Amino acid sequence: MERYDVAIVGAGPAGSTAAYRLARARARVLLVEKARFPRDKPCGGGLTVRAVRQLPFSIEPVVEDRITRTRCRLRYGPKIEHQSPRVVCLMTQRRRLDAFLVEQAVAAGAEFRDGVHVAVDSETELRVDGRPVEVGAVIGADGANGITARSLGLGGAIVNGVALEGNLPYEELPGGSWHGRLVLELGTVPGGYGWIFPKGDHVNVGVGGWGDQGPHLRRHLRVLCEHYGIELRQLSDLRGHRLPMRRPATLLARGRALVVGDAAGALDPVSGDGIYEALVTARLAAEHTLEMLRGGVAGLEPYDTAVRRELDPLASAGWGAKIALDRYPRAVFALMRLPVTWRVLDGLVLGEVSHPGEARGAGLKAMQVIRGLARLAGSPHMAPA
Ligand SMILES: Cc1cc2nc3c(=O)[nH]c(=O)nc-3n(C[C@H](O)[C@H](O)[C@H](O)COP(=O)(O)OP(=O)(O)OC[C@H]3O[C@@H](n4cnc5c(N)ncnc54)[C@H](O)[C@@H]3O)c2cc1C
Repeated sequence: MERYDVAIVGAGPAGSTAAYRLARARARVLLVEKARFPRDKPCGGGLTVRAVRQLPFSIEPVVEDRITRTRCRLRYGPKIEHQSPRVVCLMTQRRRLDAFLVEQAVAAGAEFRDGVHVAVDSETELRVDGRPVEVGAVIGADGANGITARSLGLGGAIVNGVALEGNLPYEELPGGSWHGRLVLELGTVPGGYGWIFPKGDHVNVGVGGWGDQGPHLRRHLRVLCEHYGIELRQLSDLRGHRLPMRRPATLLARGRALVVGDAAGALDPVSGDGIYEALVTARLAAEHTLEMLRGGVAGLEPYDTAVRRELDPLASAGWGAKIALDRYPRAVFALMRLPVTWRVLDGLVLGEVSHPGEARGAGLKAMQVIRGLARLAGSPHMAPA
């Protein structure tokens, strides 16, 4: 029977970077993926600088644009144009990014098998295309629709949002230069927003919101398109996907298994970004798995605590901002007109402020008002800070 130290199920950003880190530390890693690579994944492909700082290597070869300007509108009406002091976000395409990340993992020594069928029988036994594999640990990195969490009794208590997106070449989009700027249309989709993200030769256009918005997403996307003088049918590669958001009861690790990224529901509730969280959970997963393989600890439960310590303050603020924006969009938008609010937002996106509670002075006051609005709205999903 084949034997590895660790099996990682799913080769998105969480799985590949966990594989890279473990392989670099000389663990024998098997990275298994059901899709044939390169493959795309429904995603805006925006990496905040906060996320980029979590990467153990540069992704320069797959960067298509750099964001310094943000346009926010409320219900297709009043507009805020913000210029950040530095690049705050890198734009890529997931087909390119994910293939690049897998290449790094393989170069570091991980074995990659794509286009395979994986069954997780226990925290030490898998079957890959029916053939048994014995492992010292299992990392579930198989995203929002994965099988690992379910097979091993992990995850649970996850709230699923939904998003729908497509692409449009620049020449079909009226309105001048789109490079270097992202557009956020707030107050347009319950529990979310609409976006336009610039790429090398096209824009990515999408909408996301609460799970119950699923049947209405095409309409929300059509309305967004109409405001930019385009028709829904002009978008290519139209795809939808879940946005999984964990809650305090979500179980992230037990025994010799753990879940990372979307499989752990680690996505940020207010922005819908999940790549930062995928990379953070992958780093923590690699550290804790290595510690267990070396015999330092008996199981991976400390990973669960470490994820909560590192991500809960931001996730809790994210739930609050999401609820506040949903219930009091005008008040939140008014706060977003203040330069102090943008100083905090830039700091968060750059990874210089780890969560809103760390802001100082007037910026902290603005964040406290948003939290107060969330409380007023009864913020039902808020995780403990
Ligand atoms: C429309 C949309 C737009 C988004 N935009 C952004 C954005 O701009 N910025 C951002 O930071 N986040 C964004 N997100 C969130 C982001 O896409 C996810 O948080 C991120 O992909 C999570 O990475 P992951 O590695 O955990 O999972 P995934 O990227 O989903 O990777 C999981 C992998 O597991 C594989 N897999 C699934 N099941 C199995 C199985 N049974 N066996 C083997 N392999 C399996 C899948 O094929 C996939 O390759 C967006 C999400 C959506 C839906």
